[in-house]
Amino acid sequence: MNTTTFILASNNQGKYREFKAILEPLGFALVPQAVAGVDFEVNETGDTFEENAYLKASTVAQYTNFPAIADDSGLCVDALNGEPGVHSARFGGGKDWTDEQKYLYLLERLEGVTDRSARFVSCICLVTPGGKIIRARGECPGRIAEAPAGNGGFGYDPVFVPEGYDEPFGVLGTDVKNQISHRARALAAFRKELERSGLC
Ligand code: IMP
Repeated sequence: MNTTTFILASNNQGKYREFKAILEPLGFALVPQAVAGVDFEVNETGDTFEENAYLKASTVAQYTNFPAIADDSGLCVDALNGEPGVHSARFGGGKDWTDEQKYLYLLERLEGVTDRSARFVSCICLVTPGGKIIRARGECPGRIAEAPAGNGGFGYDPVFVPEGYDEPFGVLGTDVKNQISHRARALAAFRKELERSGLC
């Protein structure tokens, strides 16, 4: 592996596909943490997306001795005071629930609520074994649909309608999502920071 190879500090296949689709055309190789021998999940004990992204990237960089990149992300719903936020992966019944159970629970919590505004947030952090840190954040505003649609993407994609569109990410598909998503925006900002850092 050369210096433009990053270990992705995640076991989330959806995140892996999106990171790869955006980073590979820019000349970066991405290796999932499991392939690099990381057989554990880092505990997300931070209170913010930024803290959790750093926790994941720094743990995996130390363990593998390679630069590791992590994204901590989630859905913040205004009518729920920003919930599920950093707890998006553990919303409702927790990690054992399927994505479908989580978004149906979200729709249940929003039954009869007219303010459906929400945003996806992604905080990206790269940590090198030498301790250099690069951070970036991206947001995608939108609203929560009344009912799920489509099966593209992952997580809450079937119920999140990005601003400027009438259908959720689950219907819009990967090409649209990778242009406008929180992760795409965070990765675009990350790329600029990376170039500025001289790390590649
Ligand atoms: P974490 O970053 O591993 O804590 O997980 C973030 C959780 O937020 C995911 O498991 C999804 O439930 C949700 N999430 C983050 N990004 C997206 C996305 O792009 N689409 C749909 N759900 C997402």
